[in-house]
Amino acid sequence: MRLLLLLLLVLIGIWLWRSNREAKAAQKQEKPLSARPPLDMVGCTFCSVHVAVVDAVQGRKGPYCCADHRQRAEP
Ligand SMILES: [Zn+2]
Repeated sequence: MRLLLLLLLVLIGIWLWRSNREAKAAQKQEKPLSARPPLDMVGCTFCSVHVAVVDAVQGRKGPYCCADHRQRAEP
């Protein structure tokens, strides 16, 4: 009888450990999405490659992916 009780306690312990671990894993998966703000993307006027607004080079005709493309489009 004591053995059965011990087995039950071990099973409950494993169940609690697993549910706790799954909850932590779910929290970890949700965190990066909420912590990271969505990046605004713009297309390069010269080659149409999409770059983040913060990395884009602003020209007279619009945003560019790099200074080289701005020079080529706006000589
Ligand atoms: Zn470009």
